[in-house]
Amino acid sequence: MMKKRLQEACFERPLLGDGAMGTQLMLAGLEQGNCGEAWNLTHPEKVLGIQRRYVEAGSELLLTNSFGASRIMLQRHGRGGDAAALNRAAVEIARRAFGDQPGYVLGDIGPFGGLLEPYGDFNAAQVRAAFAEQAQALVEAGADGIIIETQTSLEELGLGLDAAREAGAACIVGSLAYDVTLDGATFRTMMGVEPEAAAEFMAGHGADILALNCGTGMDMERARAAAERYRRVSPLPVMAQPNAGQPRLVNMKVVYDETPEQMARGLPALLDAGVNIAGACCGSTPEHIRALRAAREAWWQAKSGPGAPAEARA
Ligand SMILES: [Zn+2]
Repeated sequence: MMKKRLQEACFERPLLGDGAMGTQLMLAGLEQGNCGEAWNLTHPEKVLGIQRRYVEAGSELLLTNSFGASRIMLQRHGRGGDAAALNRAAVEIARRAFGDQPGYVLGDIGPFGGLLEPYGDFNAAQVRAAFAEQAQALVEAGADGIIIETQTSLEELGLGLDAAREAGAACIVGSLAYDVTLDGATFRTMMGVEPEAAAEFMAGHGADILALNCGTGMDMERARAAAERYRRVSPLPVMAQPNAGQPRLVNMKVVYDETPEQMARGLPALLDAGVNIAGACCGSTPEHIRALRAAREAWWQAKSGPGAPAEARA
């Protein structure tokens, strides 16, 4: 049987994503400032171990370890020439982590790490070429889709979405990082983008799923609010990956305070708001995913209990 595309499967029943990769790589021994994506070739068993723990905890969708695997990002580590190989390896590792389970592998493309002209040193053509190389390698290696994530500017997001579309990705996800404003009244990206404008932009650029991830102060409750704002302007499915609470600096280390139980408590409201894929970003662990999976099962059972149509219980 042909596997359903992610954007269709997630409408039948909300799916569970994965948790943080960066903080898990640090726990596995990656030093701050080193290239975590290089591990796809130098320490594949470590990356595989992290992703296997997410699958065991209940993830139905994995993001590949390729957040910083664009040529521009890799050049900072002297590894620009490895871009295609690192992205292909990222897909293969994620696929192996699922074993014979039918999980979804989303090829991950993060920001290129600078500013576009006239504010920064890179022009649109350079960034577009870097994203195109990455997207092509991810699709060729068999990713079920591509997520352009932690984006703050529509211009850069658009370059990523275009690259994913031109590479022939079967599912394209655009994901923005919102920050709560100082007065706590609302949230927007660092570049001032609001969820409604982002949703309209993404829908116009061929996105299949509207997402948000990371950001400052974007807990489960704020993620729910962002999802509702997407929903108000677009019928596309929504994916939310908030951080495990607020980052705090303790002894020069960034720590995240939200426990798995606290995050899981916020999940029913998120799903009630129509979120189709829920995962977690910075600071989250396999334990967070385990708690979210349990909460998802409970929510689904309550939803599809007695009186629900049979197919909803499948
Ligand atoms: Zn994050």
